[in-house]
Amino acid sequence: MAYEKAQKAHRLETFMAAAREAGVKMTHQRVEIFREIASTDEHPDVDSIYQRVRKRIPTISPDTVYRTFGLLERAKVLTKVSLFSDKARYDANTEKHHHFVCIKCGKVQDFYSDDYNRVNVPDEISGWGKVETVYVELRGVCTDCRSV
Ligand SMILES: [Zn+2]
Ligand SMILES: [Zn+2]
Repeated sequence: MAYEKAQKAHRLETFMAAAREAGVKMTHQRVEIFREIASTDEHPDVDSIYQRVRKRIPTISPDTVYRTFGLLERAKVLTKVSLFSDKARYDANTEKHHHFVCIKCGKVQDFYSDDYNRVNVPDEISGWGKVETVYVELRGVCTDCRSV
């Protein structure tokens, strides 16, 4: 889809801008890591990105990949997805969206919903603090897992 391609190109630009802002040098390795994270909607963990980049750059170290994730996370262009698995997973989609999570395979799919964006926050919450974002996570079994 043309829209998805544009969205991924935009993510890559966002990463580059964040790195420039942080004053880090734009190495070939770093650009390849950025490209890999920006091009997937899988909400990957660090290791799976490392495995993919390693196919093109066999000399890359896991540490470089970890540090690059850290850089993007500090710049708030990558967010940690809260999941029930032990490995931290990351989301490069900075647009307001929600998740459908498969409880069998752990696949995380993005969806957009104006209704969920406008969800009413219960009154009692105001006593706990100020709500800044609302994020909805739906859990279920994805079509791939259902057809097995
Ligand atoms: Zn599944
Ligand atoms: Zn997402």
